Amino acid sequence: MSAPLSLRTTKLWVYPMTDGAAQGMAAVWRALGVDAEVIPPSDTETLALGARHTSGDECLPQRITLGDILKIARRPDYSPGRTAFFFATATGPCRFGQYIALFRQVFKEQGFGELQIVAPNFDDSYQSLGREFADLPRLGWWAVVGSDLLQKALHRVRPYEEIPGAADRAYQEGLETFCRAMERGAPSRRQHLAGLAAALAETAERFARIPVREEARPLIGIVGEIFCRLNTFSNQDLIRRLERCGGEAWLSDISEWIWYANDCEARELALQGRRISFAMLGAKLRDRVQRDNEHVLWHPFRKLLRGREETDSLGEVLENARPYLPPDGVSGEMVLSVGKAVHLWAHGAHGVIDINPFSCMNGIVSEAIYPRLSRDLECFPIKTVYFDGKPTALDRDLEIFLELARGYRMQSEWGNQS
Ligand code: SF4
Repeated sequence: MSAPLSLRTTKLWVYPMTDGAAQGMAAVWRALGVDAEVIPPSDTETLALGARHTSGDECLPQRITLGDILKIARRPDYSPGRTAFFFATATGPCRFGQYIALFRQVFKEQGFGELQIVAPNFDDSYQSLGREFADLPRLGWWAVVGSDLLQKALHRVRPYEEIPGAADRAYQEGLETFCRAMERGAPSRRQHLAGLAAALAETAERFARIPVREEARPLIGIVGEIFCRLNTFSNQDLIRRLERCGGEAWLSDISEWIWYANDCEARELALQGRRISFAMLGAKLRDRVQRDNEHVLWHPFRKLLRGREETDSLGEVLENARPYLPPDGVSGEMVLSVGKAVHLWAHGAHGVIDINPFSCMNGIVSEAIYPRLSRDLECFPIKTVYFDGKPTALDRDLEIFLELARGYRMQSEWGNQS
C-alpha cells in the first residue's frame, strides 16, 4: 500500500481498466469490509479533463485515468481525507511508472488535497496487497479469473447470437451473480471458491441456452498494450465493432499479465542468485495455488470455451517471442504481444490485431517486428492499431483487415487439403 490510511473508514474508488474486473475487485473489497465502488465509465468529460492537465506528450491511458479520477474529485461529496483510489501500477522506464506522480501533482494544484492511492505494484506480483488484508491477493485473483471468463464467454457467443443483446444480458447477469457470491463469502476458502464456481456454472448454462447461428467467422486474436486493449472506451469498443464487421475476437486477458508478473518475479530472483530461497519457494507455491484455483473456476466454461483455452504455461508464449524479442532482455507487453501472436496463429486464429495508445513504445517495437513474424507464419495477417482519443475510420480498417483474414483462412484451408 502506498498510502498510510485506514481503508475501513475510507471510500475506495476502484479504477475500471475493464468494467468486469473492476466490479469483481469492488466486490472483493466489500467482502473485506471496505466501502468500495467502481469509478463511473469514461466519457467526453474524462478526455477534456485529462487533456486540460497534460501536455500532449503523455500516453492516452494516462489522460483517461487522470480525467476519470478528477471527475470523482469534482463531485460535491468528495472528501480528500476519506477517499482513496485503487489503481494498479508499475515502475521502470514505461510512462506507466509516472502516472501516480502526475495525479498527485494535479490534485495538489487543483486544491483537491493529498491524493490517496492504494496501488499494488507489478514488481512484487501485486502481493503487497496482502500485508493489510491477508485474503486480498487470493480473492483478487479469483475476481480477475472470473471476470476474464465471463468476458471470454461474451466474446465467444455474442458474434453468433440470434437474439440481439442476449449475450450482453447473460454477461451482465453473470457478473452480478459472481460479484454477489464474492461479497457473500463463505465459512472457508474452499467453500468460497466453490460458491464462485457455482455462480459461474449458472452463467455458463445461461450462455449455452442462447440461440446461435452456424457461421464461419474469421477468428481474430487481440493483443497489445494492456490498458488500451482492455478498456473499451480507449479502443473505441474495437471488439464490438469487429463483431459487427463479421469477425470473432479472442482477447488476451488480464490473467495473462498476472502470469507474466509471476514469471518476471521468478526471473528477477534467479538473477539475484536466489534461485533456491524462501522467496522463490513462496513465488512457486503461489503460482501453483493460483493455477489450481484457476482450473476450478474454468471448469464450468470448459465446453463453451473449447478451442479458446489459454496456454497453461506462459513460458511457451515467451519462448515463441524469443527469436524476435528475447524475454530475458526485453520486458512489457511487446514480448507478450509477439509471443501470443504466434500462439494464436498455432491455435487457429486467422489474424491478429495489436491495440496500442498512440506513441506507446510497446506498439512501436512490436509493429517493427510484425512484417518478419508474418512472413515466418505463412503470411499470417497482423495489424497494429493506435488510439489517441480521437475518432478514427476504424470500421473501414476492420473490414479491410477481415478480408485479409478471410483470404488467409482460405489459403490455409487449401494448403491443408492439398
Ligand atoms: S505501455 Fe505505453 S501506453 Fe502504457 S503506460 Fe507505457 S508508454 Fe504509456
